[in-house]
Amino acid sequence: MMETYTIVIHGGAGTILKKDMTPELEDAYLKGLQDALDGGYAVLENDGSAVNAVKAAVVILEDNMLFNAGRGSVFTKKGLQEMDAAIMEGKNLDAGSIAGVRNVRNPVELAAEVMHYSNHVFLSGKGANDFAIKQGIKLEPDEFFFSQFRYDQWKAIRDSDNYSLDHTHQQLEELMKDKKFGTVGAVALDRYGNVAAATSTGGMTNKKYGRIGDTPIIGGGTYANNKTCAVSCTGHGEVFIRAVAAYDVSCLMEYKNFSLQQACEEVVLNKLVKMEGEGGLIAVDAQGHAALVFNSEGMYRGVRDSKGRNEVAIYK
Ligand code: ASP
Repeated sequence: MMETYTIVIHGGAGTILKKDMTPELEDAYLKGLQDALDGGYAVLENDGSAVNAVKAAVVILEDNMLFNAGRGSVFTKKGLQEMDAAIMEGKNLDAGSIAGVRNVRNPVELAAEVMHYSNHVFLSGKGANDFAIKQGIKLEPDEFFFSQFRYDQWKAIRDSDNYSLDHTHQQLEELMKDKKFGTVGAVALDRYGNVAAATSTGGMTNKKYGRIGDTPIIGGGTYANNKTCAVSCTGHGEVFIRAVAAYDVSCLMEYKNFSLQQACEEVVLNKLVKMEGEGGLIAVDAQGHAALVFNSEGMYRGVRDSKGRNEVAIYK
């Protein structure tokens, strides 16, 4: 058994500026991050597994209205919430994903059920909802997911063909140039040397045609491998999918011997920037090093480890 364990979380990246924030809202975000960090850390401290730690942290963020995942998810073109999530364990490369589910209180729990009990990796739409019912996963009515500011955000663009990333309080023009993201995620290393990653999102405001982002795509927005690291991404999903962002971090470590930090910087600050992919990611390696790297103005984030590090932050 190792004495080192680490958890890292994010609540989305984007144009998050201090001047747009009230002290009350800033406190609420920081508290939300700390609660999730502590929830995940408690699992690790009590000899729990990395996969249970990331699940616990993501459940807390999903239940928090401030973040675009679970409760408080953004609205689709049709005015609904359709959520995506994934979870992966680094030990056996086991993974579970769901896309386009509605009324599931904690999409990350459903992704974990898919991983453990479905014989499949990726379920979508109505089928995923049927599986949730079969597994006895907690469901909630549409009202549970409603948040006024995301509704206003959607109202501003619903009659256009635009779609936008989250954490945006402005009108249309500003909204399109001032992109913000609100997905949540966690990565952890447990005392047994296993890493895990989980990511959960409502996707992009005004999305249509059953659009799915990088979050539930194994290797795109979520990846974990004990040989290298665990990664959870947030940002403009289309680009992260094309960049195979999460897996690329792992590959740079596995095949090019990059350190965790070097690999994350190569993907986020070089590759994604060249592809105009705004956003960031969090990662942890099998030694418990953490990386929190983003190319946007800010990223809601936190890290806590067994050596006493305990930090939450928003801006650059
Ligand atoms: N990556 C997510 C998506 O494209 C959005 C986000 O990170 O906020 O669905």
